[in-house]
Amino acid sequence: MTKKQDEWQMTQKGLPIIISAPSGTGKTTTCKRLTQRMPDLRIATSHTTRKIRDGESDGVDYFFVSKNEFETKRDNKDFLEWAQVHTEYYGTSFESIEKPQQEGFDILLELDVQGVDSLRNMKFDGAYILILPPSIEEMTKRLRKRGTETEESIERRTNTGKEEIKSYKKYDYVITNFDIEETVESILAIVHAEKSRVSRYIPTSNDIKELLG
Ligand code: 5GP
Repeated sequence: MTKKQDEWQMTQKGLPIIISAPSGTGKTTTCKRLTQRMPDLRIATSHTTRKIRDGESDGVDYFFVSKNEFETKRDNKDFLEWAQVHTEYYGTSFESIEKPQQEGFDILLELDVQGVDSLRNMKFDGAYILILPPSIEEMTKRLRKRGTETEESIERRTNTGKEEIKSYKKYDYVITNFDIEETVESILAIVHAEKSRVSRYIPTSNDIKELLG
C-alpha cells in the first residue's frame, strides 16, 4: 500500500460498495436503480481508454481518456487502483472517491476482478458484491442485444466473464440477477447489514449518554 492509500484509508467515511459483474449481467441498470434508491450513494466515475458507446456521456459513465493521458495519471499515482480489462485500461482515481467519502456519502465502485484483488491486497474496507448472470447463454444474449459489441468482443467478454465467475470466493456476497428489482433489494439488504456492523459503529456522545443514563 502506498502512503497515499494508507492516509486515505485512515480518513474514510461512508460505506464503499464494490460491485463486479461480467459484461451483460445488468450491472449498469442495477447501479442506476441503486442510486435512485439510496440518495446518499455516489458512483465513483472511473477513467477508461475504451471508446465511448452510444448513450454514454463523458464524465458520467466514465472519464474517457487517451492511453497517454491514462498512463500519465497512472505514473503520477492518481489511481487507487487500475487494471487492463479486455484490451483497455480502467482505473479508479483518488479524486473520484475522496470528496464524496469525506462528505459522508456511500460510494459505489464498479470494478473487475483485478480491481477487487488490488483493493483486497490493500485491505480496503467495503462490501464486495459479485453479480452473476442467470446463465452464460443469457449473458451472451444480453451482450448481443446491446448492439455495441462486435462478435469478437462478445466472445472476449464472455471468456473474461467466465474467469470472473470462477473468482466468486474473492467476494463477500454473490447475487444471481434473475430480476433487476430483486437484485437491487438484495443489495439494499446487504448495505443495511453492513452499516450495522459493530466495526463500523461510531458512537455519538448523545446515543451512548442517553442509553447509559
Ligand atoms: P465496460 O467496458 O463494459 O464498461 O467495463 C468493462 C469492465 O471493466 C467491467 O468488468 C467493469 O466492472 C470494469 N471496470 C470499470 N471501471 C473500472 C475501474 O475503474 N477499475 C477496474 N479495475 N475495473 C473497472
